[in-house]
Amino acid sequence: MHLLRNKAYVEGKWVAAASGQEFSVLNPADDSVLASVPDMTAPDAKKALDAASDAFQTWKSYSAKERSKIIRKWYEVVEAHTDDLAAIVTAESGKPLSEAKGEVAYGNSFLEWFADCARHINGEILSGPWPNKRILASRQPLGVVSVITPWNFPFAMITRKVGALMAAGCTCVIKPAEDTPLSALAAVELAEKAGVPKGVINVVTCSRKNAADVGKQMCEDSRVRCISFTGSTHVGKLLYGLAAKGIKRVSLELGGNAPFIVFPSADMNRALDQAMLAKFRNNGQACVGANRFLIHEDVYDQFIEGFKERIQTHCILGPGTKEGVTCGPLVNAEQVNKVAGFVADATQKGARVLTGGKIAADLGTKYFQSTLIDNVTPDMKVFNEEVFGPIATIVKIKSEKEALEIANNTNSGLAAYVFTKDLGQAFRMSRDLEFGMVAINDGLLSTAEAPFGGIKESGIGREGSMHGAEEYTEIKYTLMSDLE
Ligand code: NAD
Repeated sequence: MHLLRNKAYVEGKWVAAASGQEFSVLNPADDSVLASVPDMTAPDAKKALDAASDAFQTWKSYSAKERSKIIRKWYEVVEAHTDDLAAIVTAESGKPLSEAKGEVAYGNSFLEWFADCARHINGEILSGPWPNKRILASRQPLGVVSVITPWNFPFAMITRKVGALMAAGCTCVIKPAEDTPLSALAAVELAEKAGVPKGVINVVTCSRKNAADVGKQMCEDSRVRCISFTGSTHVGKLLYGLAAKGIKRVSLELGGNAPFIVFPSADMNRALDQAMLAKFRNNGQACVGANRFLIHEDVYDQFIEGFKERIQTHCILGPGTKEGVTCGPLVNAEQVNKVAGFVADATQKGARVLTGGKIAADLGTKYFQSTLIDNVTPDMKVFNEEVFGPIATIVKIKSEKEALEIANNTNSGLAAYVFTKDLGQAFRMSRDLEFGMVAINDGLLSTAEAPFGGIKESGIGREGSMHGAEEYTEIKYTLMSDLE
């Protein structure tokens, strides 16, 4: 735990809250206190915005090459500290160490990618209707960005946003989730080591009690030009409302309700292996996680049998630091109660638990068994809401048409998964599924090179790819006249 820091980070300094208040960060594996960090309020956030606003004046005038070099250096420093960072991610989020290392590598791939993108944010020169004039469409950085992140990928959700906005020439204030501020603080410690200038990245920590107060300041301050948020649709809507008051750009990555559809022609072994990844990675706590398994009746029994066998063999519950564990504790008590509530609601309404379904009390208060349920009907919460936990819900389908109807019958539109060897069917599904991302014969789709994001109530904007960097720019039109 070399990178454990217990102060917030503003203008290149490690600082306490103005009020002196602190809150505890717990290890969900055993409920022990990992650290106490500043419980900041709006005046602290304002100071951090002052710093980001000052730093923007110089950061925006760095050459693209200089910005690229600094982001790349951050990538290299993170790579050299992978184990230290992963230890913190596991300690505060609960995920197994192997997954935490995977998250650090994944998060760091965005720094590597955006270091390259920094040198390719180009505009256009357009000819227009005149012989002696040219239209310049150049990309300008937006300015100060408020970054609000969740607990499920406490490192990667930061680099995915901050790498992109830094490449574009913006600066930021980050408010990490109250369950997982330590990964954010460790990440900026490494940014400091890499030579990121003071004020370019600032971190304000606060408890849930102060999140609305800090969030309001971070959205309403006139110097903030963009709010970049990942988290629940409920909070996303709230922040969108605040952003609207100041006509600010938003980038919102919100909840999903991903269908995972298996047709008879699918390679069943592959579908089952990918189902395990799409559902139980991070113990189901991923916005792109498979939420509803829609399995064709011809392969329904085969799928259920294979899935149950894999869950019982490969889902090993325990503390994330223990060798061999594949599913850690859930992040907090609310998550445990929410997941337990889904099972209770479904079983009351006639669902059948095929494996799991209970809190593993022998391990502690936060461990929930990896669960498979069928006989699911549309009136059950587990079918309609984002589960965000280790419950796989199976529904039998009879046709492609029915699969599409059920899959699209949701306000969410983030990710969808389809397993088929029929090329025509793959094409039709990818065209007709109302989701921002569709994976054909795969259960993992996020990578730095691809545009990640949703439609409908799953969000606005894209992260990763060149689009991710361009999110933090505005196009300026300059008319150049009298060139002759
Ligand atoms: P959340 O939306 O409540 O919190 C996310 C972030 O927003 C945290 O940093 C939190 O402190 C902050 N926040 C909360 N209220 C705020 C406010 N009024 N103003 C400003 N910031 C505020 O999400 P959560 O509690 O972490 O998880 C709840 C649910 O959200 C999950 O069960 C899941 O469905 C969803 N979720 C989605 C994602 C995703 O990647 N899309 C990630 C995490 C959680």
